[in-house]
Amino acid sequence: MAWVNFKQLRKSLDFEKVLVLYGVTVKKSKGNRHQGFCPLPTHHGKRKTPSFSAKLDWGAWQCFGCGARGNILEFAARMEGLDPANMQDLRQVALKLQEHFGIVPTGDGNSEGNRQDEPDAKQPTGLPTIVNAPLDFELKNLDPKHPYLLGRGFTPETIEHFGLGFCSKGLMKDRVVIPLRDHKGALVGYAGRVVDDRRISETNPRYRFPSGRERDGVYYDFQKSQFLYNGFVLARDGRFHEIQVVESFTACWWLRQNGFQNVVGLMGASCSSQQADLIVRLVVPGGLVTILTDGDDAGERCAVSVFTEVAPRRAVRWAKLQDGKQPTDLAATELEAILGKK
Ligand SMILES: [Zn+2]
Repeated sequence: MAWVNFKQLRKSLDFEKVLVLYGVTVKKSKGNRHQGFCPLPTHHGKRKTPSFSAKLDWGAWQCFGCGARGNILEFAARMEGLDPANMQDLRQVALKLQEHFGIVPTGDGNSEGNRQDEPDAKQPTGLPTIVNAPLDFELKNLDPKHPYLLGRGFTPETIEHFGLGFCSKGLMKDRVVIPLRDHKGALVGYAGRVVDDRRISETNPRYRFPSGRERDGVYYDFQKSQFLYNGFVLARDGRFHEIQVVESFTACWWLRQNGFQNVVGLMGASCSSQQADLIVRLVVPGGLVTILTDGDDAGERCAVSVFTEVAPRRAVRWAKLQDGKQPTDLAATELEAILGKK
């Protein structure tokens, strides 16, 4: 059970029980609030006044003496002598609490099929939220020569262009990681795809997307619905007379490798209004948006959603695939036949 669903864990944890676990005698007052001496090992100064206050319903706490504050996990991390600002430390303490309270982590919703159509989860804390904020780290030592990528026919040039590589440690262990850059080019997260499909399960989904994180009272969230894959590369180059819109990462890689450079991916089976805005921004007035989705019911629903969102502002064409076909099944000549000349 090495997987943590942070959103679920935060909802499942009972702050009072966590306080008790760390030796705090809880004294409840109005508003389900606990007030007492600061229990933190990092507390400076004397403990003469009850400077530590915890809102049990909210899972938020602060100390007026030492100035520390945070959420339940950050409290536990400090009590363990760990660094609450360090993701690995938070994960370590999350695993411990998860196990102690018998919380079984659920998958992040992408365990079904090849699709990534889970709607963005809403964070429950009521904290100020920043969506798709730039990351303050980059994954290193990714292996671009992994057989998963080469075996599916992707060339070293394609792999390099998208910055893909196999990750052998951390949260993305045993996955091909896919850097996600916003329309300004900032790295906002990584998606990770399992390389061995036999190991896909409820707790080990085919695709893993960035999970939300809390720091200093701010919630940092990743939302696919506000993101267009490969959109940055296009935005950098200006505006186009024609672009292609596909559902998946792999379709994006495949089209580009076969000469269709102006391709963007929705990373899901529908087009949000924010994604439509990003698409429209990339196409000159009078230009054309071509949809190439999978040849199945979900692909058709996806195409309809692109139509609905984009057609009022740009011409939209649907390059419909035969039943059961995916863009990655098509050779270059077939792509050209259905999409027109590159
Ligand atoms: Zn304190």
